Amino acid sequence: MNKKTVFSKFVPALLLAVLCLPLAAEDNPFFSAYNTPFDTPPFDRIQNTHYLPAVQEGIKRHQVEIDAIIANPKAATFQNTIEALDNSGQFLERVTGVFYSNLEAITSKEMQEIASQLAPLISAHQDNILLNDKLFARVKAVYDRRASMKFTVQQLYLLENDYRQFVRNGALLDEKQKARMRDINRDLSLISLKFNDNLLAETNSSFIVIDNKDDLAGLPESVIAMGAETAQSMNMPGKWVFTTQRPSWTPFLQYADKRGLREALYSAYFMRGDRDNDQDNKAVLQKIINLRCERSKLLGYQTPARFILEERMAKTPEAVNSFLARLWKPALERAKAEAAEMQKIIDAEQVGFKLASWDWWYYAEKLRKAKYDLDDSALRPYFELENVKKGIFTLSEKLYGLKFVENKAIPVYHPEVSVYEVKEADGRLLGILYMDFFPRDSKRGGAWTGGFRNAFWQKGKRVLPLVTVVCNFTKPTADTPSLLSIDEVNTFFHEFGHALNGLCANNFYRTTNTPWDSVELPSQIMEHWALEPEMLNIYAKHYKTGEVIPAALVEKIKNSSLFNQGFETVEYLAASILDMAWHTLGSAANINVTRFEEKAMGDIGLIPEILPRYRSTYFAHIIGGYAAGYYSYIWAGVLDADAFEAFKETSLFNKKTAASFRKNILEKLGTEEAMALYKKFRGREPKIEPLLKKRGLL
Ligand SMILES: [Zn+2]
Repeated sequence: MNKKTVFSKFVPALLLAVLCLPLAAEDNPFFSAYNTPFDTPPFDRIQNTHYLPAVQEGIKRHQVEIDAIIANPKAATFQNTIEALDNSGQFLERVTGVFYSNLEAITSKEMQEIASQLAPLISAHQDNILLNDKLFARVKAVYDRRASMKFTVQQLYLLENDYRQFVRNGALLDEKQKARMRDINRDLSLISLKFNDNLLAETNSSFIVIDNKDDLAGLPESVIAMGAETAQSMNMPGKWVFTTQRPSWTPFLQYADKRGLREALYSAYFMRGDRDNDQDNKAVLQKIINLRCERSKLLGYQTPARFILEERMAKTPEAVNSFLARLWKPALERAKAEAAEMQKIIDAEQVGFKLASWDWWYYAEKLRKAKYDLDDSALRPYFELENVKKGIFTLSEKLYGLKFVENKAIPVYHPEVSVYEVKEADGRLLGILYMDFFPRDSKRGGAWTGGFRNAFWQKGKRVLPLVTVVCNFTKPTADTPSLLSIDEVNTFFHEFGHALNGLCANNFYRTTNTPWDSVELPSQIMEHWALEPEMLNIYAKHYKTGEVIPAALVEKIKNSSLFNQGFETVEYLAASILDMAWHTLGSAANINVTRFEEKAMGDIGLIPEILPRYRSTYFAHIIGGYAAGYYSYIWAGVLDADAFEAFKETSLFNKKTAASFRKNILEKLGTEEAMALYKKFRGREPKIEPLLKKRGLL
């Protein structure tokens, strides 16, 4: 997952006529030079009380900069308007970059409260810029003359993007409509926070407690130890707790023999936000969709999807839906065949039940063992977190010549975070990388890449990007280091791809606009290397003996590459289709969320043994940047599978191909048209066959 949205240029917030700064500015680290290595945020000095005054000051300064652009007596030019706009708001971004990153990684009631205070300020400030007639008139003046002026590709992309952002935010509306637009934006900013707060509270309160040892039957020792440590940390010594966080949830579903307990933990997960309690998200989601519908209509679009997709590679809901439909049928067939194979195992056990959704992981694991003689817990010792990390570093060096040097002098926002200087082959510093691996109550679920600052050029110098990779991996226990599952290994490679994109970014301007359905290309291409035999030989070493993963095991991994692909594709596609169903509505006013979801899934013939990967009430992706965009992963899957073929055709670590990928994709995505960049890399448009082959859908 990618969190680039944090850096939308027109980021934050409002103009309070009178700004009182209760704290002396000199006590607030945001107000002065950081005096830290590479101008990294001084986390040791930043306190929650610093955010609000710093954001207010940032808004004030940004507004002054905007006013100066408007007040310029000279006619609008690219330099005095578009470039000036690109340069504005840096103080504000310095604060919001830190705040929104920390809001997800080390949140608290206090942080959430501050976020609710900031949301309307920032939404109003953004509207003050994008709905400013005089500013828009200047942007439009440059835009209208673009045919007669000479621009670089990046300049033209920036100009057209700026113009479009104003129009898409209502610059062409009348005053009454603009006022309504402001209200909608403010309400949306607040209610989206509410959705995420509810979800975090639900996740933290959804778990099962086991106090009878017999109920642990089937679980590997390491999973039992993890359950005991979780219980200990929750003040339930002597018991075992399993949560809805993936590192706890997945192995429990894979191995717990007690079917009733599997059902209990599975339900704890899929009922989040749907319990008719204070944290219920049904009405919240309905309100969000409704506001999005209204906003789209105001801007002249029938549905939110039509509005959103205009800026994506896919362009229209029809293109997305027909792409998803093309994959759906073969994927569903495959999943049904997988279910039938598992039912055979159940029947042979003579336990007398029909496979249910909470049985899938358990019997899939048995099937994996029976069919491929492969067992997740036998693999984990070869995927110790430190070894996987070193492997990824080696891959980055082989491809791009990058080196990673830990720097303990750089302040961190949590003691578990480690920081690296990322260097070019010639020793030049490329950027700073923060990594934060394990779950905690203050961190939201999933894995994502973000950062405190993006790369851009200022006064002939490249400003260093500060990139964060945040995950929820299996924790070490008292006597075992962190041993990753194959899924977690893939996630690490994936997020690292986003990180490389952020680190290598070489955009001239601060403003970028990456179509959301291309954003997963740099991340997903990395996953292709993870389980290649050549790559496994480099990093998959037994954590105790240092022995390289045996060839026989590598062979088994390779043979099982299509294992469970039907299920994974179906649960993913179902969620993508659910997302599209929500965003192709004209109004959500009279919708019953539960029935709507049931109907959307019934219409495509989803089998009861599989739920969509995210149900509506905990589908955080579509509350954020993936609205009408969850399909992006598989859309980009066409690109990354086709791009990886370019390596497979020659060699896995082909330096020339890597250099071209870096130059055209990693450095430029978001500053030129995505398909044009892809064609420069590949010499042609992408083909869909490599993706179909990879998922066993051909
Ligand atoms: Zn991603």
